[in-house]
Amino acid sequence: MENLLIYVFVFVIGTAIGSFLNVVIYRIPLGKSIISPPSSCPNCGEKIKPWHNLPVLGWFILGGKCANCKESISIRYPIIELITGILAVIIYYKLKSIDIFFVINFALFATLLALSVIDLDYKAVPDSLNLLALTLAFFSSTDVLENIKNALLMIGILSLVRYYVSYILKREALGEGDIIVAGTMGALLGVKLSLIALFIASLIAIFPSLYIRYKNKDLELPFVPFLAFATFIVWYFKDFFMNLWSVIYG
Ligand SMILES: [Zn+2]
Repeated sequence: MENLLIYVFVFVIGTAIGSFLNVVIYRIPLGKSIISPPSSCPNCGEKIKPWHNLPVLGWFILGGKCANCKESISIRYPIIELITGILAVIIYYKLKSIDIFFVINFALFATLLALSVIDLDYKAVPDSLNLLALTLAFFSSTDVLENIKNALLMIGILSLVRYYVSYILKREALGEGDIIVAGTMGALLGVKLSLIALFIASLIAIFPSLYIRYKNKDLELPFVPFLAFATFIVWYFKDFFMNLWSVIYG
């Protein structure tokens, strides 16, 4: 029972952070402050009342519409709150304690989630958030120097891949944003697991990328969501993937 209460607590805190992530996702790319002013309807400017601002529930209380002007509010808001809540629960389930490493790892994956959504919207990610994720990854475990070393290795490896692929394709391949995310992966996962995560991300990205190429040549597929998702999967199933690596490479 006590155990269940902790999970409910972690979930509720997670959805509240998700509510803040919505503000971050909306305001950072526009260069607006994430602290003030308080949330308001983007259509009529009416300040959002605290009980309408409740994570996940607020959207349903309002029926997905602004209480003042009835402009519809995207279902993306409660979905991101829900995903962040679930993310907090999974990370707590994995780490089994609420300590500084829970806070750092949760903040890190929440930042990667925000980066993913911004990349989907703008096909680019803000350096501020990207460097925040990288810095959090440095401190995601006790051996900070090792984490920094692994970040530098992954940044180097991806830069090299970028030079080769750009040369072969005769166009810019991979964004600078993706390279910083690779550094975050390196610091969090180490080099071996990062390479596995990169492989998984590329594998999942193949199908939507082929689809986009088939539909419209000019569209570019944002890669950060795939990197972030693969990073989370490999982080969660770390032991499994480490075993897999030793089975393949000894
Ligand atoms: Zn409104």
